Amino acid sequence: MSGRCRTTCSSTEAAANQTEEAMAKIAFIGLGNMGGPMAANLAKAQHHVVAFDLSDAAVKTAVEKGAHKASSAAEAVKGAEIVVTMLPAGKHVREVYEKDVLPNVAKGTLLIDCSTIDVESARHVAVLAEKAGLDMVDAPVSGGVGGATAGTLTFMVGGSEASFAKARPILEKMGKNIVLAGASGGGQAAKICNNMILGISMIAVSEAFMLAKRLGLDAQKLFDVASTASGQCWSLTNYCPVPGPVPASPANRDYQPGFTAAMMLKDLMLAQQAASAAGASTPLGAEAAQLFSLFVNSGNGAKDFSGIIKMLDGK
Ligand code: NAD
Repeated sequence: MSGRCRTTCSSTEAAANQTEEAMAKIAFIGLGNMGGPMAANLAKAQHHVVAFDLSDAAVKTAVEKGAHKASSAAEAVKGAEIVVTMLPAGKHVREVYEKDVLPNVAKGTLLIDCSTIDVESARHVAVLAEKAGLDMVDAPVSGGVGGATAGTLTFMVGGSEASFAKARPILEKMGKNIVLAGASGGGQAAKICNNMILGISMIAVSEAFMLAKRLGLDAQKLFDVASTASGQCWSLTNYCPVPGPVPASPANRDYQPGFTAAMMLKDLMLAQQAASAAGASTPLGAEAAQLFSLFVNSGNGAKDFSGIIKMLDGK
């Protein structure tokens, strides 16, 4: 990974760098809905991907997509130049790094955690990595399973400029927009702030459609006006919670996800946890977390998060 030209380089140097990258051995831990297709894209880009997940079925699928099987996380990371993790929550990330990754990687290994976790856990693991002389970035994603499969994810990265420069060529094999958000934990901060906007705005858009219905205003007419007026936002124009105006939105397929309500609740809770630790006032974020909690606890966790309109409609 070292010595790669970053500004101008001859075609011979570029080809050498390409080969060096292509030969990189990458350990990939966490091969679920997101990690599976992300690992597949790294293998497709000719990386030597060594994959591990607690689920044998997930490992089997990864092997079918070009990865090599490891029997444990510790085995996967031995000899790896880069480690990528895509795990459910902060406790899994702490455990995997503390028990399996940090004790078994060589000096100089680059660590990339793509999971969405609490800022505190992200910073905790980054400090341990730094103490061990390792470069680490938190690089949570947005774009969902579709983006993971198509290799078009957005990565929000927290870490040093030097670690970011090393991680970038790898992240580019899995995504399109790669943004350095700040120091360690900065990627997680950007992710939860963005998703707090998303959760709140979906509720706002849903309430507007419910009010329009009761006022006798046609949903398409509200969409035509608001999508070109000051009510315009992503929840309305890309993910409209009523069927019709945006044919590709989950509302048109009975709220099959997409992005599940359970995931949205997780991110809103992470935002509340961060707000409380940082002393930030987020009253609408708190209300959105409560409403999504009600929605999820009524058995709707697996529905798309835009399905909250049904609950707001009293259904
Ligand atoms: P998932 O539950 O499908 O996958 C997580 C995988 O981690 C599972 O296969 C599980 O077996 C594995 N795992 C758990 N503990 C492990 C351990 N100790 N060692 C090895 N493997 C272990 O979840 P997902 O949808 O792929 O999401 C992963 C992360 O990405 C989460 O943090 C989530 O918040 C985030 N995310 C998800 C989406 C989405 O649309 N699904 C979008 C953006 C971000």
